[in-house]
Amino acid sequence: MPPDQPIKKRLASVSRGPRARDTQRPGPVAGLSALPQLPEGCEACQDAHVVAAQNAYLSCARLHEAFDMLPEGLVLLDSEGRHVLWNKSYAEIYSGSADLLQPGMTFEEALRAGVARGEYPEAAGRVEEWIGDRVARLRHPGEQHELSLANGHRILVDERVTSENSVVGLHVDITGLMHREKSFRLLFDDNPLPMFVCAADDGRIVAINDAALAHYGYSREDFLAKTLGDIQSPAAGMPWSAGQTDEERAARTWRHVKADGGLIDVAVYSREMPYEGRPAVMLAMVDITERKEAEARAAFLAQHDPLTGLPNRASLRQRAEDILAVTRRSGQKVAALCIDIDDFQAVNDTLGPSLGDELLLAVAERLRTTMREEDFLARIGGDEFIALQAGIDRPEQVAILAKRLMSRISEPYRIDGKSAVISVSIGIAMAPGDGNSADVLLKNAEMALTLTKNNGRGMFRFFEPAMDARAQLRRRLEMKLRAAIDDSVLEPHYQPLVDLRSGRITGFEALARWPDAERGFIPPSEFIPVAEDTGLISALGVKILRRACLDAAGWPDHVNVAVNLSPVQFSSGGLFAVVLETLRDTGLPARRLQLEITETLLLEKSEQVVATLHALRALGVSICMDDFGTGYSSLSYLRSFPFDKIKIDRSFVQDLDSNPDAQAIIRAIVSLGGGLGITVTAEGIETQAELKRLRLEGCHEGQGFLFSRALPNADIVSLLCAQQSAGAPRSAVA
Ligand code: C2E
Ligand code: MG
Ligand code: MG
Repeated sequence: MPPDQPIKKRLASVSRGPRARDTQRPGPVAGLSALPQLPEGCEACQDAHVVAAQNAYLSCARLHEAFDMLPEGLVLLDSEGRHVLWNKSYAEIYSGSADLLQPGMTFEEALRAGVARGEYPEAAGRVEEWIGDRVARLRHPGEQHELSLANGHRILVDERVTSENSVVGLHVDITGLMHREKSFRLLFDDNPLPMFVCAADDGRIVAINDAALAHYGYSREDFLAKTLGDIQSPAAGMPWSAGQTDEERAARTWRHVKADGGLIDVAVYSREMPYEGRPAVMLAMVDITERKEAEARAAFLAQHDPLTGLPNRASLRQRAEDILAVTRRSGQKVAALCIDIDDFQAVNDTLGPSLGDELLLAVAERLRTTMREEDFLARIGGDEFIALQAGIDRPEQVAILAKRLMSRISEPYRIDGKSAVISVSIGIAMAPGDGNSADVLLKNAEMALTLTKNNGRGMFRFFEPAMDARAQLRRRLEMKLRAAIDDSVLEPHYQPLVDLRSGRITGFEALARWPDAERGFIPPSEFIPVAEDTGLISALGVKILRRACLDAAGWPDHVNVAVNLSPVQFSSGGLFAVVLETLRDTGLPARRLQLEITETLLLEKSEQVVATLHALRALGVSICMDDFGTGYSSLSYLRSFPFDKIKIDRSFVQDLDSNPDAQAIIRAIVSLGGGLGITVTAEGIETQAELKRLRLEGCHEGQGFLFSRALPNADIVSLLCAQQSAGAPRSAVA
């Protein structure tokens, strides 16, 4: 009977008796057909019988309805193995052959009908044997078994025998369950991630996958005898601890002990689930040991210098802040010593970069071991270190440390068979006083260092507030200079170079002039060093060169132009190309251009510098050594390159009258120039007496206020015209 048929309707059909058998569905109807015959004659009896029958039918209908609601398939066979009753789920499970079922049909007949329709693939090729087995099982109650159907479903069968020798069969479709189990197996057993299942209450490991066995190295038996706490180090807590959010759990990492005692860092992902009927937690472990190590390395490198392993600037700042906080409370002082190796670049070039690194390591070691344990040392740049000396009362204590460091560093080094001797310069700032924040304190120590370096090497110097004022002034000048170069405010003025024998102007030296509304002209001695320090000299140099060549191209062909070059212009590269391009663009013949370099350019004896000089000279440009005699070994520089001209520094000319040594030096230079075939020019001639003396000494060329100061191009043109029209060589000169 269809389950959706209302009870009333069913009762009606009961009262109609056997017609109910017409229904396709089996069930209680079959049971009612066995009602006893109505006794004849007695109406009361007949009524009572109908009522009893109706009640019985009602009970039966209810029972059947209840059966139909069960999700499991249920079948009742009588003692002869004939079908008495089956529910809706049973009919659905065996839908391939359930339409053949009839009450009274034997189980074997039903099986054969199903086999004939191909409903039982397991019977294929062994029908009789299979049917025999299957029927025999009916009589072995309590033994669960499974069977497969043609539609791919798997059915779990559990049959029981009643006291009347009937059989009650419970049939459960376990296909979904099996799929889930299979998925779980696939997810768990074959997962490449190590996984455990732990009992939720005590963390006992109750299942373990192969990846975990391989990763941890324990045997399955060992694992299954442990709790999760046994392999955690420290054992505290379980990854699924209550009161933690998913993010908190995900963020936490654990340390597990492997069978060989090794520790690994793992991220643990957990899911609660029942396992074998008990609350459990499935855990997946991701080994993040390498990631953690890499993170630790990165964290170390973020705070340390990779070469020496010393703390870097970032950790120096932090430490300085910490020490300052303590110092503020204790009332003591802290000193920052900014230590820089003198001329390290030159040493590095001589030793080569790898030995240069060795030297730095040795320096770091010496600094560290010369300081107290509680002092702090950081490397903040190539050859720059900062030491923090805390817990001091007087500057003298810092001076003692500075001297000790300088003397230790200046002891000779022996590196890979080569020896090296170096010195360091130190700038010192102290707090409180020179800065109450780490940034200011360190900046002031560096400022003190810069001034120490400007004044010589191998010294130390304390910061003074005036230094800061100077630095600020310099910063302002830098900004102003940058704008002035961009706006082409700077331009060359020209100072004549005079042939001392003929008195004729042979050329002009281009000198950069920076007109300023407030100051008239800002002197080159002020802005050239700033331009060199900031690299602005390259842009400035290009502009002055171009302008000088352009102006000179308009002068008579025998009048040359001399342009000053800074060493920085050589190191920034591309100088040769700049000169070549300028000559081409302005049309000035190369022979009319003289480039003045100073001895400092040759200090490092760089091959690249000498090569550039040769290339320029090969173009036809003259190369002059400016300010000759002021360098460390002026004479030796004359051997590094075949100069076309030497310009004797102004200081020798100034001393000419008073100092016989100056005379002797000039005489020697002039004769040296004669011997080498080099023109000798005297700078800074201010008096007739000086001029006379220089002429007597045979000096070829002169330059100085006596002849003229540097003038703008417009005045040069008239100066040259005057010389031209006067025809007299000395008219332009004193
Ligand atoms: P320098 O190349 O030796 O230039 C000669 C300097 O001596 C010039 O100073 C000039 O004005 C000065 N001078 C010339 N005759 C006399 C004199 O009789 N008495 C005195 N007391 N001084 C005299 P200035 O123009 O102040 O330039 C100073 C330095 O600045 C130059 O020395 C040069 O090294 C540098 N400089 C100037 N212009 C440029 C430039 O365009 N580029 C580069 N790289 N340096 C430049
Ligand atoms: Mg010069
Ligand atoms: Mg000079």
